[in-house]
Amino acid sequence: MDIVIAGAGIGGLTAALSLHTAGLRNVRVLEAVPRIRPLGAGVNLQPNAVRELAALGLAEDLADLGADLTELGYYNHLGQEIWREPRGRANGARWPQLALHRGALQTTLADSVRARLGDDAITTGTRVTGFAQLPHAGVEVGVGHRDDNRPAARIRADVLIGADGLRSAVRRVLYPQEGEPRSNGTTVWRGITRAEPFHGGRSMVVMGDGRWKAVVYPLAVRPDGDGLVPVNWAVSRAGREDPAPPDAGPGDGFPTAVAHWRCEDLRMDALVAGTDATASFPMLDRDPVPRWSFGAVTLLGDAAHAMAPMGSNATTQAVLDARSLAHALATHDDPTAALTAYDRDRRPRMNRLQLLNRAKGPEVVIDLAHQRAPHGFARGVHSVLPAERLAHIAHAYARAAGFDTASVNAPSPYRPPAPDPHTL
Ligand SMILES: Cc1cc2nc3c(=O)[nH]c(=O)nc-3n(C[C@H](O)[C@H](O)[C@H](O)COP(=O)(O)OP(=O)(O)OC[C@H]3O[C@@H](n4cnc5c(N)ncnc54)[C@H](O)[C@@H]3O)c2cc1C
Repeated sequence: MDIVIAGAGIGGLTAALSLHTAGLRNVRVLEAVPRIRPLGAGVNLQPNAVRELAALGLAEDLADLGADLTELGYYNHLGQEIWREPRGRANGARWPQLALHRGALQTTLADSVRARLGDDAITTGTRVTGFAQLPHAGVEVGVGHRDDNRPAARIRADVLIGADGLRSAVRRVLYPQEGEPRSNGTTVWRGITRAEPFHGGRSMVVMGDGRWKAVVYPLAVRPDGDGLVPVNWAVSRAGREDPAPPDAGPGDGFPTAVAHWRCEDLRMDALVAGTDATASFPMLDRDPVPRWSFGAVTLLGDAAHAMAPMGSNATTQAVLDARSLAHALATHDDPTAALTAYDRDRRPRMNRLQLLNRAKGPEVVIDLAHQRAPHGFARGVHSVLPAERLAHIAHAYARAAGFDTASVNAPSPYRPPAPDPHTL
């Protein structure tokens, strides 16, 4: 079966590795950028994604790449605790929650694809421009030069996987009326700063005042010779005003509003002032759609379900999609039936998660706390919300995203089928 994957992001590369591991060998990844470079900042792999990447033999490579997080805490802008929970192994999961640089993850996956599938498995500088389904089976994929949306050539494949991100060209053919991604007026600034470890060195801290929010976590556990670790931070400002332009620097509405925030030994001023490069983005997502799979074509990762960055999930879900899709293609003779099975497995959950994230996912507790106590809690008050309600919000989200401990510790649903004893 000839399979073309549009996009060598985390989802596309994991799909290539998963398909190869499942025994499907004719896989090509087409990537628009001329060279895969370590772009972006921090991402999280939740334990369900780490389990799936471990099944691809990548556990050791990944463990060296980032920080194994053991705690997540939500706080108000004064650093008062709203909710705190153990994460990953500290929460009884067999697999860790890993915080790592997106670029390091992408490079590791790309190296593995080239080592296993061959040097020519990834073609860079080649943009998928669109496709046409063939009358009986298969698809003709339009490909062009990296900056050109017009096809320069067409290639035939049995399956096309659109893993081409937020502005997917494959999705545009399937949903031509959709237009640009949706913005809710929130601007996000992010950067990575070398700073002293905080909260014991393995914690993610999310602080907010109902309008501004800061998400902070380390990307390494072991400090360097100066006692510092790379710390990833993202500061967002909710609002309906025009978002700051992309790559607005420190002078352009930069999050000075949070510079005085402190949370125990975490100081936001040290982070935002010490950053070498800061980028800003509008917060974007997409509406859920009623179908991802059409004949020989399907969508995966952000192309399928771009979601607001709440709950540290987007990368995790792209990995899960890739595993589900490879499993479906390996266990169905008919590619169309396989893509339908994948759609049925993943889309309903992702549709729900997109809407949950639009409603702020588990981070909604910060707004709820702010509504009750905009100036902070009185001394001696542990949190202004009942613990059962907070626990319910956290656990319901983890279940929806598939990283509650029971789901993580269950065997992967995407294990290869056991051989039929009658055919042995
Ligand atoms: C440059 C970049 C930086 C990012 N940084 C962060 C970050 O710091 N933190 C965070 O949480 N998330 C970040 N993300 C998003 C994050 O990677 C995704 O949400 C998540 O990993 C899901 O991955 P994906 O493979 O579905 O999409 P993506 O990671 O977006 O990958 C899509 C890939 O498709 C390629 N592509 C796009 N159009 C075409 C086309 N027509 N033909 C061929 N190739 C195409 C893109 O160049 C890209 O390599 C970033 C994405 C990108 C592209």
